[in-house]
This record gives sequence, C-alpha cells and structure tokens, in this order.
Amino acid sequence: MSEGKVFLVGAGPGDPGLVTVRARELIETCDVLVYDYLANAELQSWVKADCELVYVGKRPGRHSIPQDKIEDILVKHANEGKQVVRLKGGDPFVFGRGGEEACRLHADGIEFEIVPAVTAALGAAACAGIPLTHREHSSSVCFLTGHEDMERGNMHVDFAKAAQLGGTLCIYMGMGHISEITDKLIAGGLPPETPVAVIEWATLPRQRSLCATLATVAEAKKKAGLKPPAIVIVGEVARYYGELNWFERRPLSGKRIAITRSREQAGELRGKLEALGAEVLSLPLIKITEAESHETVDVFDGMAHYDWVVFTSPNGARFFFKKFFEKFADLRSIGGVRIACIGESTAREVKSQHLAVDVIPETAVAESLAEALLTEQSLDSVNMLVVTGNRNRDVLIKRLEEEGHAIVDVLPVYTNEPSDMSEEPDAESFRQRGADAITFTSASTVENFVAQSGQLQLAKGATRPKAISIGPITSAAMKEKGVPIDAEAKESSIDALVAAIVKKLV
Ligand code: SAH
Repeated sequence: MSEGKVFLVGAGPGDPGLVTVRARELIETCDVLVYDYLANAELQSWVKADCELVYVGKRPGRHSIPQDKIEDILVKHANEGKQVVRLKGGDPFVFGRGGEEACRLHADGIEFEIVPAVTAALGAAACAGIPLTHREHSSSVCFLTGHEDMERGNMHVDFAKAAQLGGTLCIYMGMGHISEITDKLIAGGLPPETPVAVIEWATLPRQRSLCATLATVAEAKKKAGLKPPAIVIVGEVARYYGELNWFERRPLSGKRIAITRSREQAGELRGKLEALGAEVLSLPLIKITEAESHETVDVFDGMAHYDWVVFTSPNGARFFFKKFFEKFADLRSIGGVRIACIGESTAREVKSQHLAVDVIPETAVAESLAEALLTEQSLDSVNMLVVTGNRNRDVLIKRLEEEGHAIVDVLPVYTNEPSDMSEEPDAESFRQRGADAITFTSASTVENFVAQSGQLQLAKGATRPKAISIGPITSAAMKEKGVPIDAEAKESSIDALVAAIVKKLV
C-alpha cells in the first residue's frame, strides 16, 4: 500500500481565481477532499471523478464537527494510504486551526505538507481598495481575532493595547463584538474618527462593504446588515476606500443574475457577467447531450455527395465534429462542401476546426439563414446537410426544400432536454433571494422555466428578476408562455445580451 499523506491547503479568501497553482494541482489529484463552508464550492468541481468529498463544516440545525473528530478523519484516510487534501478557507495557518491539525499529524507519524494561500485580510484589503501599508500612514499590519473560539465567544486579544501599535489592524471574526472592540480601541487611545472598513464576503461577487469611523462603525454595520464572514480594517489607510474601492464599482457589482443555459454553454456568459462584477446563479434549465443517431453512419458514408453543410447552432457544430472525428482521422474527408452557419457563435465553433464559413446571415435566426442561402445562389437539386438538435424549428428546411428545391438531409446530433431543478445548488439561492435579472437564450429555456416554475417559486421578500431575452425567437416564446419581457438584446449574441443586461440594470 502506498503511503498516505495529508495536505493542509489554503483555499484563499473566496474567489477561485485567487487559489494557488499548487492548491489547484492537489485538489485535482487527491483521493479525499475534506472541506468546510468557507472554501468556495466551485473548487469541489475540480476533483477527479472518484475523489471522496467529506464535508466537515457547519450545517444548519446541527453542531459543527468537533476539531478532534476532523483530525480523526484526516488520520483515518491517510492511514488507508490516501492522498488527502484538507481544504481550509484563506490560509491554513491564519486563524484556521492548521497548527493543531499539523501537530496531530506529526504526533501520529503521518506525512504532511502545508500550502499557503491569500488570507482573508489580504483579499479584503485588495478588493476594498485599502493599501495595508502606506509610506505616509502605516508601516505595520496586525492580524487579530475578535474571538478565539467560535463556541465560547471569549475575547483574548487586549484591544486597548492593540490601539497602541500604530499600524493597520485587520480583525477576523470581529462582527459579533464590534462595539466592544471599537470601544476598547478608543479607550486605548485611538481617535474616535479613525477610519474603519468592514468587508463582507470579500473577493466574491457578493462582496459588500462600508467605511465609517471607530465611533460610528458598529451602528453603520448594523444598519447595512453586514454579517460574518467579514474582515474589519482599522487605521488611517482605510481612508483610501473612498477613492480605491474598485471592486464594488464595476457596472454589475452587487447585481445577481440568473442564467438558464445548459451547463456546458453557460461558461462564456457567466465569465462576461462576472468580469463586470455580477454574482451569477446557474439554473441550467436544459441539458444538452449527444444524440445516439443512426443516421450519422449513412450521412458520413455519403459525405462526398453534399454541396452544403448548414449548422444551426454551436451545439450542432460541436457534436457534429465530435462524431465526425470519431469516424474520420482526416479533416479532408468532409470534402469540398460549402458551409453556412446561423450566427457568429456557431461560426466560431466551425472556424475552430480550421474551416472557413461561406455564409452567415446578418441576424442569427432560421428565417435569415434561409434568406441568405436562397439569395446566395440557385439551390435547385443541390444536396444539403442541415445539422440540428432534436427540437429545431423546421422553417429553414421547409424553405430550402420548397423555395430553393434543394435536396435536404437533416442530421440531429444532440438532444435538448429539460433538466431537474430540485437538486441544483443555485436554484435554492434563487428561490430564497431571487435575482436582479434572469436571461433566456433560447425558446427551450423559456419553456422549461415555465414548466419548472413550481421548483423556482420565489420566497417572500426575494427580488423578482427582470427577464432579458437574447432575441426575437426567444422573445416570441416568452410572449407565448406569458413571461413578460423587460429587455431584448439588439442582436442574438452573448455580447449584445450582456449589453442589454447592463443597460437595464445600471
Ligand atoms: N484561515 C482563514 C481565516 C479563518 S477564520 C484565513 O486565512 O482567511 C474565519 C474568519 O475569516 C471569518 O470570520 C472572517 O473574519 C474571515 N473571512 C474568511 N473569509 C472571508 C471573506 N471572504 N470575507 C471576509 N472575511 C472572511
């Protein structure tokens, strides 16, 4: 049996992009991942397929797992010869009980490694625009805890003494005792007008923060409803928050946007919204899977006789080439066909195979594609292959056949099915808090949204989202299903959809 080993790995302050390369490598290869609530859930999706996930954080209505039991779990799996990653929010050696876990591993003779990370105070300072040191205002930084032990809630730090340090104070776990802490700092000699920033869920899209003074911060925090996890930064440098709070000034900061595309397709939209500061809730209302299609064999055998291949969606293009290269080793097997695509994102998929696209209509809808092909040249008796999914509208095929007199074969390469929302983690968040906007990018997402409305019922007080459509076909489906349209993208593209969201919400 191979030797087991435990890696105490810092998960950083929240944003998965702030995890170290070493941490990512270990998460991707470990046999067991032991994690708690401060480590971003997205990190779990990096594990290999047979990795065992063990949650040791707090659960609603239940006691958290005692520290010695967590250590037992680490020891047990290591003794079974496993590579165990113990993922901890922030840095494992900053208020993370990493020291205790390492001592236990050492005592039990288990090999271990410690992987440092961006601790919450550094993430909070960066994303609130507060330089922790500054040549004119602060030449030291101190990390303090508001209470050393979550369960006992005792204060061990002498804040009156901390007031004498003269530099920047970063207080972890200070929210429960904020007025006691600020009183003591004032009593210790800090002027009541010393600036204080509070940063909740730092580095994440849901980050909220404020800046007040030692005298006013407890009240301000209460009024704003800021809750743990949060970092409190005390010192002259907190003044820079006013000028440098770049993070929450991005156009979609503080906005929550639900996207309804399939998981595979959501990436680009999610990335663009997050880059503008939005919190994105993923409601993959449709599931796209490769179709088991028997026609593929015949079509591929007869590939040489087609004059045109027409792609009506990026999924169609993606699955077509997947199937194509399962059969052929050489791109030239596609023959001398001409290629048409419904829109730019479909064309991108085709171009990624190093194939040029001959026809892309101005607007990405079936009618325009038909128009473009019909005006391009005579289609009389021309052999065309239209690559589709299982639910495409047949207007394109009809017009090519009836008006163009083309000979059309249809090849469905994927299926588009409703997916169940009851188990989706973001669906719960959507029900509880709602969203500022919800995007619809196809008629099928609209249909499934309506079909699953029971499972997406908003709780009382949740924000009712504005509905944003990617284009006329989706809008028509929304009208038909009685979903009010708050905005429609100028053209059927992700960039135009994002622009429509910004215009509507900002
Ligand atoms: N090991 C962690 C700290 C764990 S103690 C680290 O190095 O960051 C838990 C406390 O960390 C929270 O009560 C809060 O004060 C702080 N914290 C963790 N993540 C945070 C975040 N994203 N935003 C603000 N504070 C955070």
